[in-house]
Amino acid sequence: MQGGPPANEPVLQYGPGSPERRELRAEIARQSQAPVHVRLRIGADALDGEGTVPVRSPHRHAQGLGEAAQASAADVRSAIAAALEARSSWAATDLATRARIFRRAAELLAGPRRQRLNAATLLGQSKTPYQAEIDSACELADFLRFNAYYAERLADEPLISPEGVNNSLDLRPLDGFVYAVTPFNFTAIAGNLPSVPALLGNTVLWKPSPSALLSAHHIFELFREAGLPPGVINLVPGDAELVTREVLSHRDFAALHFTGSSAVFDQLFRRVGENVAGYRAYPRLVGETGGKDFIVAHSSAELDALAVAIVRGGFEYQGQKCSAASRVYVPASLWKPLEAKLVEMVVQIRVGDPADFTNFMGAVINQSAFERIGRYLAMAEKDPACRVVTGGRQSAEDGWFVEPTIVLVTDPGHALMTEEIFGPVVAVYVYADDRFSEILSEIDAATPYALTGAVFARDAAALAKADRKLRFAAGNFYVNDKPTGAVVGQQPFGGSRRSGTNDKAGAAFNLLRFVSPRVRKVTLEPARDFRYPFLLPD
Ligand code: NAD
Repeated sequence: MQGGPPANEPVLQYGPGSPERRELRAEIARQSQAPVHVRLRIGADALDGEGTVPVRSPHRHAQGLGEAAQASAADVRSAIAAALEARSSWAATDLATRARIFRRAAELLAGPRRQRLNAATLLGQSKTPYQAEIDSACELADFLRFNAYYAERLADEPLISPEGVNNSLDLRPLDGFVYAVTPFNFTAIAGNLPSVPALLGNTVLWKPSPSALLSAHHIFELFREAGLPPGVINLVPGDAELVTREVLSHRDFAALHFTGSSAVFDQLFRRVGENVAGYRAYPRLVGETGGKDFIVAHSSAELDALAVAIVRGGFEYQGQKCSAASRVYVPASLWKPLEAKLVEMVVQIRVGDPADFTNFMGAVINQSAFERIGRYLAMAEKDPACRVVTGGRQSAEDGWFVEPTIVLVTDPGHALMTEEIFGPVVAVYVYADDRFSEILSEIDAATPYALTGAVFARDAAALAKADRKLRFAAGNFYVNDKPTGAVVGQQPFGGSRRSGTNDKAGAAFNLLRFVSPRVRKVTLEPARDFRYPFLLPD
């Protein structure tokens, strides 16, 4: 057992003249020239699968980053067999050894491999240097270190042992293998979902996002370099339906560790339900899903802080964070000055290739995201209930670029205020100042999600009221801050309702889902007479 909690990995700033800026530039140039062939990683093998898909930069259609193998149904069955084969020796490996491997991965990532993963995230997912740094370097290193720390604390949880009895807890892995299905938008989540169950002694089949294959490849290499034995995590890129069908119909499927959209999680949940009688044990289903995250301002809010929260919370990483601010409720008395500030800031935002460090935003992830966001922009343009305050245009010439867009909406129930757009589009609704209480009820009821939300106010009574009335509207609630940027160990992350199972990534809560505790009672002096004292005659 280690001492206190680890420190969060310091965030490098990439300012002019800094060594990290130089190193990142060099690594971007190197990876741009060296196409990668992402293979299936099953047991000790690197395999070519059945066919390939190209790996491309979202911000430069012309830039091929390599290609990725696709798994066939037979490959998926081999990966399951490899996971099951590795299971007994990995489950028997003590926690200290497993934790050491993932801590070593964190050290490699924070040190010599930092720019490799940052550059892959910048090129493959179109993150700026700062967004890549806080995700693929810092958050992933934090996940690895904090999870190791929490796992050791759970294993050390004392049980009461009265005289003559010795009670102890055996944190067993689950009976079977774990299926990790990861999203495109955070390299840290892609590393976290397979590594948490593995840390706890499970073996894993990991299906990465087809839109984040370059970083997935480097995460896998990092784990292996840190000493993870073959078969513990098996990387299986491929058609999501095909891979999932094989996995969920296997009797040893023990848990799903998913992050992605609510619609996909629904499908997986339903499929597991249909198959439930065929599994060896009841599977654990952990899913962090969509959001429609809010900012609500009270008339006492500080204007500058509110404007910065909307711009950073709404537009960093092109609004493609599950926590991104996408509906904002502003009192009428603040709207005019706020509008002026927002426009002043947004027109300064440069959108383009993130390898040009002056850009604040890159491209959205792919064509289908570009088209989906385009439909909302067209709606904002045409619908008389909407007025585009700033932005609204797209360009697909070099990459999937969308301008940061703010839309004023006169109906709080409008699609722009209630549906997850997952792009750089912020909808604003202006309410009469004396309706603060009603607007809080409206926020709570307007969407099926409950992921993140923020309130801005200087009035203590208003803050207390928002805290109370929005208690179930967000799993991560921010006061006078943007609703994005949760830090491992500081703000464990996750939402409820249709935003997921709220098992809080980056916290002990999450780890508990991937263990099946056994309690051992050792009786030093066993009873040797079946009769209890009350049976004795007076
Ligand atoms: P997505 O649902 O499209 O994909 C997520 C994963 O599911 C990918 O690996 C994908 O290949 C796989 N998938 C897609 N269809 C499938 C199917 N039919 N069967 C099995 N697997 C399938 O999500 P995305 O676009 O990668 O990520 C964006 C979504 O993730 C947003 O909704 C966002 O809010 C959510 N998200 C939530 C959190 C959170 O913590 N709550 C964090 C990040 C992202």
